[in-house]
Amino acid sequence: MSDRAKTGSRFDVIVIGGGHAGCEAAAASARIGADTLLITHKLETIGEMSCNPAIGGLAKGTLVREIDALDGLMGRVADKAGIQFRVLNRSKGPAVRGPRAQQDRALYRAAMQEELKAQENLTLQADEVEDLALNRDSSIRGVITGRGEEIAASKVVLTTGTFLSGVIHIGDQRHSAGRVGDPAASGLSETLNRTGFRLGRLKTGTPPRLDGRTIDFTGLERQPGDNPPQPFSYLNKDISQRQIDCFITGTSEDGHALIRENLQKSAMFSGNIEGIGPRYCPSIEDKVVRFPDRKSHQIFLEPEGLDDHTVYPNGISTSLPEEVQTALLRTIPGLEQAEMIRPGYAIEYDFVDPRELAPDLQTKRIEGLYLAGQINGTTGYEEAGAQGLVAGVNSALAVAGGGSFMPDRANSFIGVMIDDLTTQGATEPYRMFTSRSEYRIYLRPDNADQRLTEIGIELGFVGKTRRNSFESKMSLLDQNRSYLRGRKASPNQLSHFGIEVKRDGIVRSAWELLSHPNLERHDLEKTWPEICDMYPDVFDQLKIEAGYDHYLRRQEADIDAFNRDQSLALPHGLDYDCIGGLSTEARVKLKQASPTTLGAASRISGVTPAAITALLRHVKRKHNTVPQAS
Ligand code: FAD
Repeated sequence: MSDRAKTGSRFDVIVIGGGHAGCEAAAASARIGADTLLITHKLETIGEMSCNPAIGGLAKGTLVREIDALDGLMGRVADKAGIQFRVLNRSKGPAVRGPRAQQDRALYRAAMQEELKAQENLTLQADEVEDLALNRDSSIRGVITGRGEEIAASKVVLTTGTFLSGVIHIGDQRHSAGRVGDPAASGLSETLNRTGFRLGRLKTGTPPRLDGRTIDFTGLERQPGDNPPQPFSYLNKDISQRQIDCFITGTSEDGHALIRENLQKSAMFSGNIEGIGPRYCPSIEDKVVRFPDRKSHQIFLEPEGLDDHTVYPNGISTSLPEEVQTALLRTIPGLEQAEMIRPGYAIEYDFVDPRELAPDLQTKRIEGLYLAGQINGTTGYEEAGAQGLVAGVNSALAVAGGGSFMPDRANSFIGVMIDDLTTQGATEPYRMFTSRSEYRIYLRPDNADQRLTEIGIELGFVGKTRRNSFESKMSLLDQNRSYLRGRKASPNQLSHFGIEVKRDGIVRSAWELLSHPNLERHDLEKTWPEICDMYPDVFDQLKIEAGYDHYLRRQEADIDAFNRDQSLALPHGLDYDCIGGLSTEARVKLKQASPTTLGAASRISGVTPAAITALLRHVKRKHNTVPQAS
């Protein structure tokens, strides 16, 4: 790593932005061996968490596991900086569990910066990018900084988050900013507009920050983390960071009345903000209006760090005027005397219609330009990081002249997200949910490495340490799986060891018994003592697999069918006007999205099964045979 690029320098890949997408993109590109520059406003805000200091959660935790399985940074960094780990939905099935960890904000930034500084082939530079430099054929040539310097590269990854023409709102006050304390990026918005990209406007908000020393925690519900904490990274066995408790309080009817009285002063409700907000992360104003009968909304009081008194009141994101925010705090148990360090605010910003992107996250309009993160209409660190990794890998592979990494709906949540974005676009901030996946029994947080690491090894972006650890884990899993499948006993034999099953004379394997929810490890050990030697994590993994075996075999057929559809590539530059039998709506939508496969075409809303049949018939007739996608 070197600190400063020189004027007139040239790189293989330039990543603009040091947020969650930018860090993963830069690290992934450099891991592949591309000479990479990460250029961002300030080096000290690399890895900054703009909103809540937490990584993971429902579905988001699976994304973190997937990033980690692909040797990305987020999981390892969150393990270093995590101060409270909890697996959400622990009482439910493994497919819907959500690993989450409260983070020490400063430690997270420091750990991310440390990772990037240690990364070979990566240069970090503090600067603003004002414009993109394009060749005559509209392919990318590099970037132009605020000081007018041109830095050359054949691939550029744009990860500007909430900064594109960002405007902060608090009550009726507004000012230009990318987030509090940082300037907006207006030049790049103009560039994208000028080059014809379809831009839209979205918004999001954040709660006030409180001084924890002025909160009265007595009487509030204490929320401890899991003991022991479970790391995100497949490379980590345990967590060494000191762990803390969070607390729970809630809004009151007095607070709701206050919000109703002041609704017109909220930037979100006064009509000052045109952008659409995240439906699943609503402001407290939104919640009070949408759920008029609710007497209280939960607030999690989350410390922002071990040596930091700042507390993040998760649940009261707001854009009410500062004095109303203060008055609201007075109505909340425990916060009656709380001092506000910083008011909550809303921010609206430009995003690019993600249908402008191919599944490798390269724009269709400018060759060599990739977009990742919030700029593509998503919300959340995990969604951003996952896209960053994909864009970073693909830009570096394109420089090297070979291969591409296109995760799909059948192998990852990352694939589901990118497919949703590039085929459906984003009408509101897109966040990941398990329900977005049709194969969620298979796409679990526990098996992300089994689904993805091998692909990363083949494409050259998974390092040696992970490769070795993955290969030994897989071989242990294989050995133990065959052992369990091969050990069998009749009901009589099992009864002898205290295991009661139906007396039907059918011989059962240890694998089948493993899936039985009422049988524990020690029950099986009595029958087959060799099980005592299995590592606990390997055993637990196999128990999950065995439990889902029956469902997974049914899902495999669906995945095979998906892969067949998915592999039917549509020729580049297909002329949709020449295809008979397409409705005007289907024709417009197909032209807009230019899907690369028949599978992607079928998932565009408004493209009916009849349109897909017409498309398939046309491609087969005109192009004689349907080529296979790579
Ligand atoms: P960011 O983390 O925003 O990083 C962008 C980076 O690009 C920054 O480092 C910036 O300095 C740099 N940059 C931008 N333009 C330029 C330029 N021209 N030149 C050089 N560098 C540039 N997410 C949720 O999931 N839930 C929430 O409730 C939520 N609330 C939020 C509230 C607020 C007020 C904000 C600001 C964000 C919120 N988010 C929320 C979103 C979350 O912060 C983002 O999803 C996430 O940070 C996106 O990551 P990113 O890498 O795309 O962009």
